[in-house]
Amino acid sequence: MNTDRKICSHNRLESLLWRAWFSSSLSLVLVSLHVIIRASLAGDDKSMAGVTKIEIRDVEHVYHSDFSSVSALGNVNLAVHDGEFVALLGPSGCGKSSLLRVVAELLRPTAGSVVIHSSSEKENGRPKTALVFQEYALFPWRTVLDNVAFPLEMRGVPRHEGLTRARDVLARVGLQPFARAYPHQLSGGMRQRVGIARALAAEPEVLLMDEPFGALDAQTRTVLQEELLRVWESERKTVLYVTHSIDEAVYLADRIVLLTARPGRIKAEYLVDLPRPRSMEMRGWNSYTKLSLEIWDALRDEVDMAMVSEKP
Ligand code: ADP
Ligand code: MG
Repeated sequence: MNTDRKICSHNRLESLLWRAWFSSSLSLVLVSLHVIIRASLAGDDKSMAGVTKIEIRDVEHVYHSDFSSVSALGNVNLAVHDGEFVALLGPSGCGKSSLLRVVAELLRPTAGSVVIHSSSEKENGRPKTALVFQEYALFPWRTVLDNVAFPLEMRGVPRHEGLTRARDVLARVGLQPFARAYPHQLSGGMRQRVGIARALAAEPEVLLMDEPFGALDAQTRTVLQEELLRVWESERKTVLYVTHSIDEAVYLADRIVLLTARPGRIKAEYLVDLPRPRSMEMRGWNSYTKLSLEIWDALRDEVDMAMVSEKP
């Protein structure tokens, strides 16, 4: 009996030891796996974060006229990574468009500089930037196809090659059936898609967008936001996107940079931790609402300030 009990307790001890060994080995394996996965992800992060595409250094801008001067930008420093989608958000008149024009080299800043790092060592004729505005800025006398092929013509790309590339980009934005149409035959949303197609056809290092959907109705805007994301997700081009809409910034961007009221300075940055591809349902997620409210909290003071400074 005693011997039986001893054998029994010995067996139980053995099974306990076995279980302890098994669970500790399992946790060791799990911990190691976790460390390996974390390390490889960190490696990925590092390689993504390591490549800076746009470097904005100490940029300031003052507009001078005969009677007054307007200080639009005050010491802006920002690095945008290769393939990153950054939204610039701020109250009306805070200098968002001015900053984008400085990056596009359309405006020489009063102080500071912008560097766009090229992805290729060789001069390949690709423009550094392409800018999409709220206004469509299409040539009314050119067909949709010829509008999209225009930047390639300017670069001296042979006509046949340029048209093939333009057709390919038009297909990607779903406008191939309208290739022979003229801008006045299209809706506002379609014209804006032509504007985006033209910018993509230019194969710029960086895509700059200044409230591109600002003039469109809410439904068209939503459709075009989805379309832009679909195209962007397949190309992963570096995008600097100006908007005054928190919702648009959260929906589209990897990172949101909030500017202060004029003169625009960087007030805060937010990482948008939503998975990609983005979808409409995410707009109902708690994390989406929480981030939007957090940004509104910071933006509200700047909007108030901008309104006060605009009063006569
Ligand atoms: P946002 O795009 O954020 O609305 P802008 O960059 O267009 O702001 O303008 C910033 C400030 O600079 C505004 O007060 C605007 O009136 C002023 N501004 C913009 N362009 C000019 C210009 N060409 N001459 C004088 N002032 C300008
Ligand atoms: Mg603007």
